[in-house]
Amino acid sequence: MIGLELQTLSRMQSSYPGRRTWTLLMVAVASLTLVCLDTRSEGQDQSTPDVIRRIDIVHMTHTDIGFTDHPIVCRRQQMRYLDIAIDTVLATTDSPLDAQFYWTAETTLAVDDWWKDADSNRRMDFLKAVSTGRLEVGAMAMNQTPALNSQEWRTLIHWLPDPLWRQIGPRVAIQNDVNGFPRAGAIRLLNRGVKYLFMGINSHNGGPPMHTPSAFWWKMPGERRMFVWLGDHYAQ
Ligand SMILES: [Zn+2]
Repeated sequence: MIGLELQTLSRMQSSYPGRRTWTLLMVAVASLTLVCLDTRSEGQDQSTPDVIRRIDIVHMTHTDIGFTDHPIVCRRQQMRYLDIAIDTVLATTDSPLDAQFYWTAETTLAVDDWWKDADSNRRMDFLKAVSTGRLEVGAMAMNQTPALNSQEWRTLIHWLPDPLWRQIGPRVAIQNDVNGFPRAGAIRLLNRGVKYLFMGINSHNGGPPMHTPSAFWWKMPGERRMFVWLGDHYAQ
């Protein structure tokens, strides 16, 4: 996942040349926080860490088709956000490390929409931004319900054309603002090479099964396992 220090945001706001564009991007952002907890004392209960050593902020916007606006408007907005993110990633390549811009596209739905609309030069810009490691793409087409059947799961994680999927190499599935995640989906993701699940469960309609933020290995049949970050809901 990607990280950006809080203090970097204000510094970049004044240094990025397209101020109007940057403001637009800020409106779109929902920041998800990963807190790295550490137990320094030998033998200390691992469930009660007492030191926060680092806070990572995942810089992204939630894909909420039809909730925040009409579906067509939402999908067009997601494409614009990605456009801005690509430019900003590339524009800050030569900036100091703590001023370089990071972005995560939560869903392949938005990336696929954008890709279909882009010309070859723009596609090269996208791949160049991905190659910096500062533009990451989540593995699923959208946040999903627990009731998908086998075909729907296949569609969900094969949303991008295979060659594009291989070039991007999604590593993390992002599931936010809904409840839980079925094991059938996790197994599908593992089969596709995705070993990490980034969760932000909606606590109004359900709730996380344990304290947040926390992380655990989710064991599957056959000794396989998925690493799960149980973070906060995007609005918290
Ligand atoms: Zn949502």
